[in-house]
Amino acid sequence: MKTYKGVFLDPVDGEAIAGYLTVEDGMIAGIDMAAPQGAEVVELDGVVIPGLIDAHVHLTMSGGLDPMAELEEMSDFLLLARAAGYLRRYLDAGVTAVRDLGSRAGAVIGLAQAVERGELAGPQVVAAGPVITPTGGHGWKFGLEADGPEGVRRATREVFKMGARAVKFMATGGVMTPGVRAGAEMFEEEELRAGVREAEKRGAVSAAHAQGLAGIKNAVRAGVRTIEHGAFDGWDEEAFLLMERQGTVLVPTLAAPDGILRGEGEVPEFMVAKTRPIAERHRENALEAYRAGVAIAAGTDAGTPLNPHPNLARELELLAEVGLELLDVLRAATTVAARTLGLSASRGRLAPGYVADLVALDGDPLESAAAYARPLATVVGGEVWRG
Ligand SMILES: [Zn+2]
Repeated sequence: MKTYKGVFLDPVDGEAIAGYLTVEDGMIAGIDMAAPQGAEVVELDGVVIPGLIDAHVHLTMSGGLDPMAELEEMSDFLLLARAAGYLRRYLDAGVTAVRDLGSRAGAVIGLAQAVERGELAGPQVVAAGPVITPTGGHGWKFGLEADGPEGVRRATREVFKMGARAVKFMATGGVMTPGVRAGAEMFEEEELRAGVREAEKRGAVSAAHAQGLAGIKNAVRAGVRTIEHGAFDGWDEEAFLLMERQGTVLVPTLAAPDGILRGEGEVPEFMVAKTRPIAERHRENALEAYRAGVAIAAGTDAGTPLNPHPNLARELELLAEVGLELLDVLRAATTVAARTLGLSASRGRLAPGYVADLVALDGDPLESAAAYARPLATVVGGEVWRG
């Protein structure tokens, strides 16, 4: 048993309590005003929140200027070894869980398993393995191509056979595949439905890369749990109603266009040209969805150009900048992000029964989102992370 003394902020009520958090077997046993008798007390400075969650990363991509060119040159072995190093940086930054939404050849599934077995230090990784996309669709170079409900069903079974704990479908085109229009519909609703059903059978979350309204609605109607990126054209009331009714979470990944546009002149020109016309709408649309009551989770798309591992603090700053209330920014990286990993019952809160993953920030995140960039200490499974 271990006890931490500090100021604890739970994202559900948004109240900070000065007290003692007790850990048993890696889980939070209680938060009390007084230290339990005979407890070994460790003091944490700053404001303590649950370990942060990044709902959308790509651990086999570097976040350098041209990650796709790197993928062509590097072996799966090198990609995997490099990714193992990124995991430590996530812990340094207070990020204790991530969802990897697409890695070539499923390399990240092995990392996820090594962390789970306690053989590698890192955040919990919920890995989707290779993305599932129609023939020639967005991300086909590092994904599994599948067509028709039967084909998608089979591909989805394939990624779960590899050990994936989530699955990602390309519902529309995207920015990083040349010759594919961002936002153009890809999978049909029936194809998505067949894949989602396979995920549901296994209690796993399904995600859809979706950047256009028609593709978003296909995905939501098919029962996909999370929409990645969101509307580049515009929303409508029907989409909001559908998302609210189904509890679909939106993961805007504002850090992705932010990185590409900051790299103008250095990142491949076709990516800049595809991003520039939609970046402003993307931000406005994230805010519009938020105002309509859609749950927003923080995901960076880390690995894409100038979007390094980790980059969650930047995403949280951007979510605050577009107009989310600071308590909802905190929830986006804790309670709501936990839903996107299918881990609502164990992560994202400071409450008994939740994993004892904590981060102490130098500053109050309910006063300024800049506090996320100043982690003082990370606690993983009840132990202070020493790096
Ligand atoms: Zn992505």
